[in-house]
Amino acid sequence: MSLPHLRRLAKSISIPIPADEDGLVGRECPNADCLGYFKIKMGTGLQGPNLPCHCPYCGHTAGQDHFWTQEQLEYAKSVALRAVQDAISRDVRDWDRSLRQSTRSSFVKMSMDYKGHPQPIRYYREKQLETKAICDNCTLEYAVYGVFAYCPDCGTHNSLQILVKNLELARKELDYSLAAPDAEFAAYLVADALENAVSAFDGFGREVCLINAEVASDASRAKSVSFQNLPKAKTAVADLFGFDLASGLNPDEWAFVCQCFQKRHLLAHRMGVVDQQYVDITGDTSAAVGRKVPIDSDQVRSLLAWLEQIGVFFVAHFHPSSTPQPEA
Ligand SMILES: [Zn+2]
Ligand SMILES: [Zn+2]
Repeated sequence: MSLPHLRRLAKSISIPIPADEDGLVGRECPNADCLGYFKIKMGTGLQGPNLPCHCPYCGHTAGQDHFWTQEQLEYAKSVALRAVQDAISRDVRDWDRSLRQSTRSSFVKMSMDYKGHPQPIRYYREKQLETKAICDNCTLEYAVYGVFAYCPDCGTHNSLQILVKNLELARKELDYSLAAPDAEFAAYLVADALENAVSAFDGFGREVCLINAEVASDASRAKSVSFQNLPKAKTAVADLFGFDLASGLNPDEWAFVCQCFQKRHLLAHRMGVVDQQYVDITGDTSAAVGRKVPIDSDQVRSLLAWLEQIGVFFVAHFHPSSTPQPEA
């Protein structure tokens, strides 16, 4: 008994996994504690055989074949079963034909039939995700829940990329303030750019500490460092990682950045009105208690540049080979 159709199928079965409307294919982390869902665009990023895949959430690394989603596996299984059914039914039809032919003139007539319910194909839809990104390092296009992620191809964390992107948005806000229809709205945009820059840096700093907690002197403390108060963050980072946050700037620049963070504190908690604590901490002679704190667009622009510099050096501390080092 030969099964040519089934045999041919067994040699060549391959099931393409469809991409979504944006050309992205779903992936699922095989780490049982994570099972995180994300998407990648095949053909972007690193090229070559047997490249591993990195989970963007937990960093788990394994071969690409370990990252199929449950739905994709169900789909592939159903397509394979349907193909096997089709092959068997074709083989049976061929037998039937040859049996009928060979017994045409004999007393006993033989025929064959194959009855089976066709296997339904388990179609699925990929999920919608929150952040789409293109890796700075390897150009992979991917999508994740949340914001921060490891690149699924090269494993580079996107913390610095996200910081730079948010600082760029704040810079656009400053540009926009120049064309604002009135001075009040212009001042609002400048103040908002300052607040957004501090929030972006706080989110960035927390994430860098979190993903490097394993190499910190105190892992649980590393998971809860706030960067809204820069001198405190500087002390924490020095204790935890032996790194000086101020190392990329000269003392005047660092003092200026700290002052900007204190201005943000006034904006967030005092409607931007100067209190004695602000004057005591910053020694800002241009500010008067009870008056609105002066926030200048050019100063915020300088702040953005220096925050980026601090960010670059901070990340470089953990990956000395891939990013520039602070000057000695
Ligand atoms: Zn994971
Ligand atoms: Zn990458």
